Amino acid sequence: MKLPNYNEAKNREKVDIKYLDVNIKYDEIYKGKKYFLRTYGCQMNVHDSEQIKRYMTMLGMEATETLEDADVIVLNTCAIRENAHEKVMGYLGRCKHLKKTKKDLIIAITGCMASQEDVALDIMKNHKYVDILVGTNNLYDLPKLLIEKKTGQNIEVYSNSDIVPENVNYERDSKICAWVNIMYGCDKFCTYCIVPFTRGRERSRKMENILEECSHLVQNGYQEITLLGQNVNAYGNDLNLGYDFADLLENVAKLGIPRLRFVTSHPWNFTDKMIDVIAKYDNIMPYIHLPIQSGSDAILKKMNRRYTVEEYKELFNKMKDRIPGVSITTDIIVGFPGETEEDFQKTLDIAEYCKYDGAYTFIYSERKGTASSFMKDDTPLKEKEERLQRLNEVINKYSRINNEKLLGKEVPVLILGESEKDSTKLYGYTDTYKLVNVIGSKDLIGKIVNVKIEDAKSFSLDGTAVKE
Ligand code: SF4
Repeated sequence: MKLPNYNEAKNREKVDIKYLDVNIKYDEIYKGKKYFLRTYGCQMNVHDSEQIKRYMTMLGMEATETLEDADVIVLNTCAIRENAHEKVMGYLGRCKHLKKTKKDLIIAITGCMASQEDVALDIMKNHKYVDILVGTNNLYDLPKLLIEKKTGQNIEVYSNSDIVPENVNYERDSKICAWVNIMYGCDKFCTYCIVPFTRGRERSRKMENILEECSHLVQNGYQEITLLGQNVNAYGNDLNLGYDFADLLENVAKLGIPRLRFVTSHPWNFTDKMIDVIAKYDNIMPYIHLPIQSGSDAILKKMNRRYTVEEYKELFNKMKDRIPGVSITTDIIVGFPGETEEDFQKTLDIAEYCKYDGAYTFIYSERKGTASSFMKDDTPLKEKEERLQRLNEVINKYSRINNEKLLGKEVPVLILGESEKDSTKLYGYTDTYKLVNVIGSKDLIGKIVNVKIEDAKSFSLDGTAVKE
């Protein structure tokens, strides 16, 4: 048994990375059994679930969409905000109920919640029906734990790790767009964020392994690759092999994938070299997600974000100047401990200044163990809610204005499938990552087509595919 430990995560030593081939041949001891997988949270978790699916298949299992049919339930969880935590705990109640009639049912929790010290202790004490807890740093242990089927709870959560899994053979959800992990972990320790505790220190994959995975995707007809990391700008820093994220981006672009994206970038070490590479290649999409988090220098300092508003503006303007037609979105936290009305006004000011194409806006949510959880927070929730509403008005205004600029134009859209809201329509994304509902025939799915934009709202566009 190995429990998560925040001290270990915080005081971690620099590690020499080991690359672990996880494509092991297992006995298919679960042949004929079914697994149910539920995913919470960010793209990283969605991609981790593609890894979990692979492990389940390796054990001989098939997926089921029906919870009651499952022999193994895996909840791949998120810890970024309190409501994500509550959703998982609510769902666990349903799983517990099933175990009363299905004694052999195995319940496993993976993801960031499993890697939280307080959650692991709570599961040990109050949720004994949970069989397996496995951390994000050693997700590759899940098949081993399922095979061992030890009695009692199996908890294997490493708060630091020197391992990078290779040869994962992901079972990808899409045949059009693929995530490619380029690194794991984060060393930034923004004071509100639990990720450095749950996902360990920064560990980069070797460039040759990433390029091999991307080449394979190109050969298999994928239209879009998104390079994935908590902070992709830091790629390669830990390797000392003489290459960085800009080099990687350029080399992936040269493989000829029609569309290349990346998430997420911290403004702090976004280099000129990266901007130049993005500007140089037509297949690197002109879209950057650049979290600002607050418009107040005092709050940015308390968040340990390592940039000032002036520095952010300088970077923002450089991107706008050098990358033709770039769209920029952001993340903003409202009501961080100690945020005054004056601080918040500065956040409104930066939102007005940047006129973002879109933003994910949130009320600050305390995560136990992070530095900000020890800060005094005396702003009433009602006031924070009002601030969020005022901010969203500004954000929505500019995303609509930016979307309206496309009215009447023909823009290239990668069609991903049928629209969930209206099955007579398709949906896809522009190169600038704007969602478009498209009138067109289903044989356009998986293709990049020109779409004439006929309507623009804050969060989406409507248009008709143009016949070639
Ligand atoms: S850069 Fe900051 S916000 Fe992003 S994952 Fe790392 S600690 Fe969290």
